[in-house]
Amino acid sequence: MWKTESKVNLRELGNTGLKLSSVGFGASPLGNVFGPVSEQDAIASVRRAFHLGINFFDTSPYYGGTLSETMLGKSLKALEVPRNEYIVSTKCGRYADGFDFSAERVTKSIDESLARLQLDYVDILQCHDIEFGNLDQIVSETIPALQKLKEVGKIRHIGITGLPLEVFTYVLDRVPPGTVDVILSYCHYSVNDTTLEDLLPYLKSKGVGVISASPLAMGLLTHNGPPEWHPASPELKSACKDAANYCKEKGKNISKLAMQFSLSNRGISSVLVGMNSVRQKIGCCGQVEENVAAAVELAIFGMDVGILREVEAILEPVKNQTWPSGIQ
Ligand code: NAD
Repeated sequence: MWKTESKVNLRELGNTGLKLSSVGFGASPLGNVFGPVSEQDAIASVRRAFHLGINFFDTSPYYGGTLSETMLGKSLKALEVPRNEYIVSTKCGRYADGFDFSAERVTKSIDESLARLQLDYVDILQCHDIEFGNLDQIVSETIPALQKLKEVGKIRHIGITGLPLEVFTYVLDRVPPGTVDVILSYCHYSVNDTTLEDLLPYLKSKGVGVISASPLAMGLLTHNGPPEWHPASPELKSACKDAANYCKEKGKNISKLAMQFSLSNRGISSVLVGMNSVRQKIGCCGQVEENVAAAVELAIFGMDVGILREVEAILEPVKNQTWPSGIQ
């Protein structure tokens, strides 16, 4: 067994008492969401991430139709470290066959998730993409069901996730204080979209922890570009491609810039990035090492403000542009 070297710093998550690594491991790629990932690569990625100080791992029964949870479970078990050395969040209410936020389904769902993850409890259970459900049902039925799961020790904290930011205030304004511990927002705090920033003071006032996912805008801010299914408009895709090409010409890595931009906001506890590769040999790029290096370099040298301003200028025409999500 090897020891962890604490290279990524830890940040408090709201009032939960949890300390999450500022870089979180998004396990959706382990469900083959961005292309095939072998079991061997999944285990190696989780192992390397943990070794470099990443203690937070996020998944969902929806990712790869439960495959992500199964792969993450195998990978965490292979670490052979005490359970309290890592923090796991999964989700409920969104499945390969559709949405179901009923108390009955989410109560059954956690048992299935725990079996796939090979765990006795998860640190956070989040209602997944609540804009696709009835928000009043989330408030009056789903969250109370999750509170019961908390009482019996299957989950430690309750969260909600979604794309439109209004869903968070809708729910948080209607539940007793301290009921929802965490929100997970995605694609709203990166170089091209910073709309989450306006919500941070409200979330802080409620003691709600903030996880910001998809710092690379689900592949838009990478040199390989987004997957086929990416919902952004052609205009947004094209502007991000221009920004990536510009960085490449200047010898800069747009993914590193995007990671560092998201990590710079201390109101965010963990920046969840989807990772599925480790460095196999010298000269070969591993996403786990690259994303950790981005955090370590940020702490030592700060942001490369020059290239950031140039990229922001390229993305200005599409600034804060998003896409529809949920019941229209
Ligand atoms: P992301 O922005 O993290 O991008 C992931 C893509 O970038 C993958 O193709 C990955 O291979 C690639 N990548 C990662 N590091 C890279 C690097 N250094 N250089 C080049 N490419 C790199 O998007 P994501 O994976 O969708 O989001 C991260 C995680 O956040 C998810 O895995 C999931 O756990 C969580 N998430 C949750 C929700 C939700 O609850 N509704 C939504 C989105 C994401």
